[in-house]
Amino acid sequence: MSSIHADVKNFEEEQMNETSIPWMWTSLEDMVNFLSSLEYLKYSNSKAFYRQCVMKVKTKPERVIKKWEDELHWDFEEWSEILVCNYKLTHETKVKTFLFKLFHRVLPTQEFLFKVGISETDVCRLCHEEIETLLHYFCFCPVVTIFWTELFQWLREQTGETIPFESHVILFGYNEILDQRISGTNYIILLAKYYLYLCKHKSLYPLFEEYRVMLKEHYNIELKINTKNNHLKQHKLMWSFEPE
Ligand SMILES: [Zn+2]
Repeated sequence: MSSIHADVKNFEEEQMNETSIPWMWTSLEDMVNFLSSLEYLKYSNSKAFYRQCVMKVKTKPERVIKKWEDELHWDFEEWSEILVCNYKLTHETKVKTFLFKLFHRVLPTQEFLFKVGISETDVCRLCHEEIETLLHYFCFCPVVTIFWTELFQWLREQTGETIPFESHVILFGYNEILDQRISGTNYIILLAKYYLYLCKHKSLYPLFEEYRVMLKEHYNIELKINTKNNHLKQHKLMWSFEPE
């Protein structure tokens, strides 16, 4: 069994061994988002709802996958593999937690906050033009597109590779070739999404130069952990260049 497939198996086993409280809930907001996604009002009693909650956590989130497939016009046959490869790119728990929330569509957007009556508007706070959905904020917002264009151009200069500028690449990484999945390029795309998420929280415009500073800091954290864990060989395989 290849190491990636072994990781997927371990990941799935871990999921099956979960207790009733999902490990990814780190706040009350997580719980509210999760319960909203299950439409808890349609269950007749709490026992039926609880059973559904536990099932939802233990099984593949089919509804989430279907929603992504419809939005991205992309086939998610390798859902578990793609997620595990993304989680393997970083050692930082806060980044992994962010990814989990994004992939499972539980990051609050203006669209969601407006729907539940928390926000007065569903319009994107960056461009003030369109409804802020996950896809709009991370991929299609004109303000964010400027950021991605600069990032992809810089990546091309660093690696000589032309990464297709597509929403599924931005959201889930460049997954065409298995060997490339755990690569510096995918780490950079992943951390860029985390940067955009932090900007959103602080209501700040994303700036590529600011992101490069952040990337350098996080790259150094990864290098330090890999050095400590004696994983320098893997680190070198992952990184064809060092972000400056
Ligand atoms: Zn926008």
